[in-house]
Amino acid sequence: MSYCLYCDTPFMEQVSWSTFCGVGEEEQLCSACRSKLNKISGEICTVCGRMLLTLDERYYNNHICNDCTRWNENKMWNGVFQKNRSLYEYNEFLKEVIARFKYRGDVVLATLFHQEIQKMYDKHFPAHIVTYIPLSQERLWERGFNQAEEVARVLPKCHSLLVRLIDEEKQSKKSRNERLAKTTPFTIKKGVETFIRNADIIIVDDIYTTGSTVRQAGKVLKQVGANSISSLTIARG
Ligand SMILES: [Zn+2]
Ligand SMILES: [Zn+2]
Repeated sequence: MSYCLYCDTPFMEQVSWSTFCGVGEEEQLCSACRSKLNKISGEICTVCGRMLLTLDERYYNNHICNDCTRWNENKMWNGVFQKNRSLYEYNEFLKEVIARFKYRGDVVLATLFHQEIQKMYDKHFPAHIVTYIPLSQERLWERGFNQAEEVARVLPKCHSLLVRLIDEEKQSKKSRNERLAKTTPFTIKKGVETFIRNADIIIVDDIYTTGSTVRQAGKVLKQVGANSISSLTIARG
């Protein structure tokens, strides 16, 4: 008998061939909770990884959504970012899970995503250098851990490469244009340039919404010679 990591309901684990063979795919959620997570599947935007089936045909062209086309047409951002892949659609349930994980300190919830994030890494980003979106010192002290790091750390070649200079909340109070026009809130950590130069890098974060955070981080990594920048997130907002 196992207990659901989210709602604590006891459930029977189904023995699959993989668990039987010891290569462990351990279920951590009861079937009710599991069914509320909506895995991204079917046709996706080749850049941002959102499901195209949920969009009206007017909003994408040639497997790329209009948001991504706009990014690519912007001189400041053209060529900065390769692709994002996310595990799940951002729905009410996942919002709750992430909130409990991130703001209420339930760090064990990170393990819910470890198997899937590893599979995604193997499939889309084999051999890439891994990093994550950092929190500001203040936020890290307050929260006690960085949720993106907790997810990223199961991946191989995971390094802390970035430092956050501007606090998340101060930044979100600015308008979108202000945020994009201003210089990035990120800088490169001292002494890590050798991991970055000529490397294909993926940035792990909890959620991809507009794509501006990973692009801002990507831009500073590019400036010290990264070859390509992609991202891997739990949710696609
Ligand atoms: Zn449950
Ligand atoms: Zn897109």
